[in-house]
Amino acid sequence: MYKKNVRVRFAPSPTGHLHIGGLRSAIFNWLFAKHNNGLFLIRIEDTDKERSTKEFEDSILDSFKWMDIQSDEPLIKQSDRNSEHKQLVQKLIDSGKAYRCFCTQKIDCEENNQEGDYSKYDRACLGRKISEEDLKKPFAVRFKLPEFSSDTFKFDDLIYGQISFPVDQFDDFVIARSDGDPVYNFVVVADDIFQKINFVIRGQEHLVNTPKQIMLYEAIGAQVPQFAHLPLILGPSGAKLSKREAAVSVLSYMQEGFLPEALLNYLVRLGWSHGDQEIFSRQELINLFELKDVHRSGAIFDIHKLQWLNSVYIKERSDQDILSYIVKWLDPDFSKNLSAVPAVAAGDLSDVVLTKSEGRGWSKEQILSFIGLYKERVKTLKELMTILICLHEVPNFKDEDLQPWKSAETVNRLQMIENELSGLVSWDIESISTALKMLGTRLDIKFPMIAKPIRLALTGQVESPSIFELLFLLSKNESLKRIARLKEIL
Ligand code: GLU
Repeated sequence: MYKKNVRVRFAPSPTGHLHIGGLRSAIFNWLFAKHNNGLFLIRIEDTDKERSTKEFEDSILDSFKWMDIQSDEPLIKQSDRNSEHKQLVQKLIDSGKAYRCFCTQKIDCEENNQEGDYSKYDRACLGRKISEEDLKKPFAVRFKLPEFSSDTFKFDDLIYGQISFPVDQFDDFVIARSDGDPVYNFVVVADDIFQKINFVIRGQEHLVNTPKQIMLYEAIGAQVPQFAHLPLILGPSGAKLSKREAAVSVLSYMQEGFLPEALLNYLVRLGWSHGDQEIFSRQELINLFELKDVHRSGAIFDIHKLQWLNSVYIKERSDQDILSYIVKWLDPDFSKNLSAVPAVAAGDLSDVVLTKSEGRGWSKEQILSFIGLYKERVKTLKELMTILICLHEVPNFKDEDLQPWKSAETVNRLQMIENELSGLVSWDIESISTALKMLGTRLDIKFPMIAKPIRLALTGQVESPSIFELLFLLSKNESLKRIARLKEIL
């Protein structure tokens, strides 16, 4: 536990949706803050005016709402502090730590340019006498590099240990563009100082920015925070997560039916561990999370593991919780649609056999029971929803599933099943199961030869949970109608 008041931040740029890598950085910041009784802040870094949009900002904030991760102080937006940033640039100019640069081809070069054609700035404007005329021309502001006392610039990273950069790779980098706006490396430092951030935890891709930012802290005379850079998330092949894979937004995981607790657990384990433990509650993560347990090597994103964790968390939720969650986050009309009687398509065979669709709108108890029946078998809530919706509708048969059953013998058997079931006085799992098992014994056939056609008739699928429960839950009326319908079709 750190003694000082820990203040960390996650500073997304609203130039796209929040992705998995960004969410993991945010979660590590949030856990670090909570573990140390500190504060976690969210700051919207909208320095890139052209690419930042309100839509992306909303989408990022919605992702946090879904994950139930909140900023402990009101949200700040970088653009709201533009005039403070400019004042700070002016202060550096006034103190001789930055200077105006009028070299026209260079003034808007990106501060972060790592590309091949980048050449170091030759300091042509350093010490230049500035005339009234000059000030009418466009200029950028460059930071004057300090005198280095060694040929490497070193700092300690809380995850990677000591990191060093050869000083000859630095030049007097741009801190404000010719339009007057300070660039990322400058504003991020200005805002981190303003928000009293004392730990900066972020993706490894920012490692190259850190020396410049430390130089700026020192020039401004502010306390340098401690830095922790997180390893990359890798794709299944072990290479950097591809654009396509990385571009999957957090909200699309929500839409696919992943639970926030599963994604949280999964992302924390992606680069952090505590022995072999796989499943952690939120509180356990807060209690256990320490930066020293973050791995240095990249972590491979494995969707199957995420699906497995999701299935564990789905089973853990009560049926009512799952239903409320679906209605809140995935489909507000979900219960309503299942309680309604589905429309019978024109020309559908059900017109012939199902006189009227009575009895097919489900009660709340029925919906909950179906959730309970299927939640044991699904990896995502979307899968669960699809199953329930399909089950609610008259089954749609696939030719290849019908083919093995197209025989007079099956039709005959379905007739016997129908007779047996319609004769039942009490419609409960026990009676249904006894009746069907006795039928199998009487006909001297293996039980699957009875169960499979029933399953097909009820669900249109060849796989499902126990047919006894399905028959019971669908109701006697509806089950018999579906069996009769399959008989017609065969
Ligand atoms: N806005 C930066 C980004 O989205 C984050 C900068 C930082 O964490 O220092 O990558």
